[in-house]
Amino acid sequence: MREIFRRQPKFRPTSGGDDGRLQVPDDLWVKCPKCQELSYTKEHLRALRVCHRCGYHYRIPAIDRIAMLADEDSFTEWDNELRTADPLGFRVGDESYQDKAVSTASKAGIPEAVVSGLLAIGGRPLAVVVTDFAFMGASMGSVYGEKLTRACERAVEREIPLLTVSCSGGARMQEGLFSLLQMAKTTTALTRLGHARLPHFSLLTDPCYGGVTASYATVADVVMAEPGARIGFAGPRVIEQVTRQKLPEGFQTAEFLLEHGLIDTVVPRGDLLTTLAILIDFYQNARNPRPARETAPAELAHSTANGTSDAG
Ligand SMILES: [Zn+2]
Repeated sequence: MREIFRRQPKFRPTSGGDDGRLQVPDDLWVKCPKCQELSYTKEHLRALRVCHRCGYHYRIPAIDRIAMLADEDSFTEWDNELRTADPLGFRVGDESYQDKAVSTASKAGIPEAVVSGLLAIGGRPLAVVVTDFAFMGASMGSVYGEKLTRACERAVEREIPLLTVSCSGGARMQEGLFSLLQMAKTTTALTRLGHARLPHFSLLTDPCYGGVTASYATVADVVMAEPGARIGFAGPRVIEQVTRQKLPEGFQTAEFLLEHGLIDTVVPRGDLLTTLAILIDFYQNARNPRPARETAPAELAHSTANGTSDAG
């Protein structure tokens, strides 16, 4: 599952264009949207898509996130066959919600806004639910809620922890009340984990808003966020309009929320594997004291660094 590290830019001829000018492939470099720094794509992937100059964490597809976390070939996807229904018969112009879902799935390369499954981190099994912003802004509809609920149930059956990685625009308006119901449904499913004394780790990534922030994503045992991630319920523009007050510098960033107690920690992408390994071991030992796992967190960090160097 580490194909992200092996993904190479597609090289095309660098000379001999029709007009005689040097042809530079579009994907040879990436430009940081925050500081405008150019990074060589290979280096960019090796740095887990974090800007080497300003630390900006690029938004990444769900499958790339999973590739960054999972031990080689350890990921098994769950419920990939679930497809959205159209309970309201929602249409915008000529396009129905279901047509929109089909065309978005084709463009985004995934059938829904979340990917769920089982993976291992240094041999530690973990249930994961990862959102993908490319599918309708990773909005939470019925399939999203159902996948998350089933992942909770499987985690309880297998007695393993759950990790959710969320970025989302909030509830999916095309499903109306059915999308709002997912807030209660997912939160209820998580209580089963709690009763089984299994932890839920939540990683909030940029941007995370609306019903996702207001439900399962912030009721975890450990709420983490990526540096600079924007997290809130309503966006800052709406809040400024309603309150007619100027908002403070850095409002709704991960660092601001850490300072004000909404989240537990800010974890840079490069530290995520080690942090998760430590957390899984900690909760495992608290629940059922056992000898230490085969791979210590320090060794895991070392092997990850070696793994990423494969891209060179
Ligand atoms: Zn940058």
